Amino acid sequence: MNQTWAMDNGPEKFAQLDYLLRSPNESRLASGAPGPQYWQQRADYRIKIKLDDQKQRIQGYETITYHNLSPHNLKYIWLQLDQNRFKPNSDDMLTKTAPNFDKFPYKSLSVLLARHDFLGGYDITEVSNKAGQLEYTLNKTLMRIELPKPLQPFETFSFNIGWQHNINDATLWGRGGYEYFKKEDNYIYEIAQFYPRVVAYTDYDGWHNKQFLGNGEFTLELGDYHVEITVPSDHIVAATGELQNVRQVLTKKQLKRFVQAKKAKKPIFIVTPDEALQNQTKKSKQQKTWIFNATNVRDFAWASSRKFIWDGMGVKSGKDTVLAMSFYPNEAEPLWSQYSTHAIAHTIDVFSRYTFDYPYPVAISVNGAVGGMEYPMISFNKPRPYADKTYWDVKQPKMHDTWARSKYGLISVIIHEVGHNYFPMIINSDERQWTWMDEGLTTFLQFVAEQEWEPNYPSRRGEPKKITHYMSSSRVTPIMTNSESIYQFGNNAYGKPATALNILRESILGRELFDYAFREYAERWKFKRPTPADFFRTMEDASGVDLDWFWRGWFYSTDHVDIAIESVSEYTLNTQQPDIEQGRARATKAESAKTRSQLNNVDNKMRVDAFPELKDFYTEFDEFAVTPYDYAQYESLIKSLEDKERVLLNIEKHFYAVDFKNIGGLVMPLPLKITYQDQQVESYMIPAEIWRYDASKVTKLFITDQPIISIEFDPHLETADTDVSNNAWPHKVTKHKFELFKYSNQPNHMQRIEK
Ligand SMILES: [Zn+2]
Repeated sequence: MNQTWAMDNGPEKFAQLDYLLRSPNESRLASGAPGPQYWQQRADYRIKIKLDDQKQRIQGYETITYHNLSPHNLKYIWLQLDQNRFKPNSDDMLTKTAPNFDKFPYKSLSVLLARHDFLGGYDITEVSNKAGQLEYTLNKTLMRIELPKPLQPFETFSFNIGWQHNINDATLWGRGGYEYFKKEDNYIYEIAQFYPRVVAYTDYDGWHNKQFLGNGEFTLELGDYHVEITVPSDHIVAATGELQNVRQVLTKKQLKRFVQAKKAKKPIFIVTPDEALQNQTKKSKQQKTWIFNATNVRDFAWASSRKFIWDGMGVKSGKDTVLAMSFYPNEAEPLWSQYSTHAIAHTIDVFSRYTFDYPYPVAISVNGAVGGMEYPMISFNKPRPYADKTYWDVKQPKMHDTWARSKYGLISVIIHEVGHNYFPMIINSDERQWTWMDEGLTTFLQFVAEQEWEPNYPSRRGEPKKITHYMSSSRVTPIMTNSESIYQFGNNAYGKPATALNILRESILGRELFDYAFREYAERWKFKRPTPADFFRTMEDASGVDLDWFWRGWFYSTDHVDIAIESVSEYTLNTQQPDIEQGRARATKAESAKTRSQLNNVDNKMRVDAFPELKDFYTEFDEFAVTPYDYAQYESLIKSLEDKERVLLNIEKHFYAVDFKNIGGLVMPLPLKITYQDQQVESYMIPAEIWRYDASKVTKLFITDQPIISIEFDPHLETADTDVSNNAWPHKVTKHKFELFKYSNQPNHMQRIEK
């Protein structure tokens, strides 16, 4: 690229992305599809876990079977030790910068101290295979295991790891952890990123080597899991996968309801609120083991508590029925039994329509302290109704508001987290590198799903007008920024890509082309590992539209949209016909403004009136009178023309040249609304390519039958234009409201002192 090109240069904004993307090869094709030489590794896990409900600790033992499906010999295997993020000397802890101590909240200080004092991280007790101990090296949140001999292509290697670690308090931090209920001395455990997991080894990055700093979630291999979880016998356990020993862990009554739930068209209780209340009062000393199997998943997470209510219903997805289930304490009622499982079912309905049928047997939403976090088949979602129950009182609209907030907050977070089953659990993108590939795509379909829940659903993200403030703010990074270096994380990795895709769908490709291409991406990369280039290329390949300018502007730059209508010029054809043209000239002169002096001079006593002999031909000459000379000129002109040319002189059209200015820098199409003199309205969508020569200003010609009375850019708010005050010609009045206040009858502070 020639760096001296100015940034407002059209050719640069429409240059191909090639030099920014990895070169395609036979693993990743130029079309964006996986190629004939595509490969990915696989890791199967057998895990045994014991939960210590007294000390909030986990003891685990796993056997990992690693399948080398790459064409390479491997000397060692790397593992992710995400719990080591909680060690006091982790990169996450050491690189945290000081907080702002101005107006420091109590909660922030207690969080700071608790994090500082928490003894987290793995205690690795064994690394072995059937031949004995294996050599290993710790590198903070990573661990390298030496293989006895290099692992050849298509060979497998099985090894064991034993470990223990303390569970963090999830009300303070973490993507999992416990929540403590002081009143009855009970816990909800939401456990994730809890076992040593094989690092991804890929065709584009080799062994991934990013330390876990907290934001970039994880990048893993797909595999099959068999997990045995031992917990107090009065606990209810939810986990990734299908429960294998229902008969051993449920009562007869619960077992019957569990079987009914899969056929139920509405959520039914498997563990009722009353049963949960009974469970949480007695504390069994016995243990029970819950066994789960999961096929073709990239991770495993679980939750356990004696406080759990459990409900479920069946959801059709393709040929199969998925069991949608929710687990929550009585504190989450009555919100959760009404909305949670329905929100799961709705997500599967909508997301599957835009991608592929949901391929797993269960989909779960768990309530606990974790705000919103996703794992295969299971998600953790925080919103609860307010404890004082006054939200039920519809006569108190403010209280009603808080109900509304928790209701929509809950539905939205469940749609989002359950939606993550598609991105990145199945379409296995690299979260530790690119947050937008899972958060942005999920937030985009979340918006689509929310708008199918009820009319005017209060979606937080998706509508272009909701991103304009962020787009024109100063501390921004491109979407294509590593997960750990992003400013304004939520807007950058969730809001902006979701909005960009919504704009691409509604205003640039249209729903038909977009939906086809988006589904093609999902189908191509289902259970595979796409990179950004694979997404960009597939969307172009399947829609048949070159979108390099769009990815460049929205994903690689921090430009924003601010397009203005600067001015409008009208051109009228000179017919050369003397009567017409002289008449027009006379009218124009009559319409033109009189100067102040001309107006004031109207009553002047003129010298030529006092002395008429001073008048001659020129004193009262009509400059617009048509003369025989004019007619002769016109006739000779007409004679000199061909028929085609003569027709042109008689057309009755209006010519308008409209000047657009691109202030924000982002090139976008021009949706326009033109209103004519007879109040007829016409809509245009001018493609973004109008900016391809000059991205800073462009003049567009409109030829109309009628005079134009107004032109509006982006009348339906579809471009995320940050300043709409310059979008209309003529300018529109900006409307505001102001309110009058009566001074309160209460005496002011000073008066009170005087009393
Ligand atoms: Zn998310």
